[in-house]
Amino acid sequence: MHELSIAQNLVQLVEATAAEHQVMAVRSVRVRIGALSGVVGFALESAFGLVREGTVCAGASLDIEDVPVRIACPNCGSVTVNDLTFMLCPNCGRASSELLSGRELEIASIEVDESDCGCAASESVAALARC
Ligand SMILES: [Zn+2]
Repeated sequence: MHELSIAQNLVQLVEATAAEHQVMAVRSVRVRIGALSGVVGFALESAFGLVREGTVCAGASLDIEDVPVRIACPNCGSVTVNDLTFMLCPNCGRASSELLSGRELEIASIEVDESDCGCAASESVAALARC
């Protein structure tokens, strides 16, 4: 299962970041998933539930932020949200090769209990976790 290995990578990344900041427990992990990333949100959520056991993520929730497909048209210059995967400009009908968003698979932020954090505010943990 594709999402299981993604969840494992996600937890490893969070653990590494938490270790750098002596964080013992993570409250929530927010991820951004693009519509074209090929990742199914609810499958990732259930996989995360399996792999978080025994890690700093054991008590953490997974918040998923869906990122829509946005394209820039090389012909008329319009930027549009495109739910289809055809990548056609709805304004002039031209196919676009410029994808602005939609392939994301990244950690947006990691929220920790401040009392567990020995050296850093949760903001800096979140900043470091960007991939
Ligand atoms: Zn156009």
